[in-house]
Amino acid sequence: MRIEIVTIGNEVLSGRTFDTNFVYLARALEEASVVVGWHTTVGDNAELIGETLKLALSRADAVVMMGGLGPTPDDMTRKAVATALNRPLQLEESVLAHIRERGRRAGRKLPSSVETMALVPRGSEVWQNPVGAAPGILIDYRKKPVILLPGPPPEFEALAERHVVPWLRERSGTHVDSFTLRTFGLFESQLHERIGTLPDTWHGAALAYLPSWFGVDLRVTVTGANAALVRGTAERAYNELGERVQGVIYAEGTQTMEEAVRELLLERKWRIATAESCTGGLLAKRLTDLPGSSKCLERGYVTYSNASKQELLGVTSEDLAAHGAVSAAVAEHMARAARERAGVEVGVSITGIAGPDGGSEKKPVGTVFLAVSSPLGEAVRVHRFMGSRSTVRERAAQTALDMVRRHLAELPVDPTLY
Ligand code: AMP
Ligand code: MG
Repeated sequence: MRIEIVTIGNEVLSGRTFDTNFVYLARALEEASVVVGWHTTVGDNAELIGETLKLALSRADAVVMMGGLGPTPDDMTRKAVATALNRPLQLEESVLAHIRERGRRAGRKLPSSVETMALVPRGSEVWQNPVGAAPGILIDYRKKPVILLPGPPPEFEALAERHVVPWLRERSGTHVDSFTLRTFGLFESQLHERIGTLPDTWHGAALAYLPSWFGVDLRVTVTGANAALVRGTAERAYNELGERVQGVIYAEGTQTMEEAVRELLLERKWRIATAESCTGGLLAKRLTDLPGSSKCLERGYVTYSNASKQELLGVTSEDLAAHGAVSAAVAEHMARAARERAGVEVGVSITGIAGPDGGSEKKPVGTVFLAVSSPLGEAVRVHRFMGSRSTVRERAAQTALDMVRRHLAELPVDPTLY
């Protein structure tokens, strides 16, 4: 079964409202092994809503439409659907009772327009809304289910979770298994070079490359009618893919780089101190995003000016004069001093030129030195990051975390990375 999701609303079409309902539903359906074949967005226009529904019914096995079920004239979904399917609207007594009861409990006299929300296309089933007035509506149209849901996210999510997802799961007839390997250090093209045509040997599987500033996620989704076969293929894909990209996987699923670093620190019962210049505390911020970070982060120095590098970390004026603040010597000194002054096992530092000004021919914008210092040894690297000021900073923080991760995991230095 492949379904189409239709989002209705001018505010979504204009880009002002982010379509969180779609995100919520698509994720829940994937987990429930329901395949989404299409997603369409249409404005508050009865004619276009009707056309969209007919098109969806011509290709999908079921249609979920959301939004436009409220009591105001800009809400036209129920009327549009009633017309398109030739199912005139009828009063649904149970919904009317639900709406009146809600009004009584709120102690407010509501205008009679709220009662339009009790109108449903003939032959519908309804799912009462546990947190609002407009119900979920299920229409069986020539053996194809059409489901209408209200737009306000709390109402939408409550109905989706309680009724829509379980209802579709039971009828999906498809099994889905998926996993995500998160990689850092190689470009998409380089990953593809390693992976090649391997996915072609997995029956019913698709591999997606999902690049972002945080690396490239490799997401494999396997679908099929037989649960055991799907599971088996997913396991084989997991092993084979893992082997090809070994060494650049930093996490799985939704785990983040900072979580991977925390895990390694906790394993050794070590703590870390950060010394940051151009990232202004971003690295420490990422580590403190995690609950319980006090177990592994001792402190962070934000030493932006030369004076602060000297005062707080003891960087020497000789080094600053001879090499500049953005240099291997200063980065190394910052990491070691952070570690020693904080009295912890690991120090990590970032010093660079985030731009857009301040670059030179020898050290263009995006030049960033990173260093790490621990009982395992010391390392320093230079990177040239492309992009805007914020991109350079994000990438620098992510790369520094990965450097700490590789250092703590005692992974060999791989010169082909970054
Ligand atoms: P509607 O049911 O179209 O009248 O929408 C009511 C309110 O729900 C809108 O003003 C939005 O704030 C919210 N909303 C509607 N559709 C969505 C959507 N797809 N994602 C997130 N919020 C939505
Ligand atoms: Mg509305």
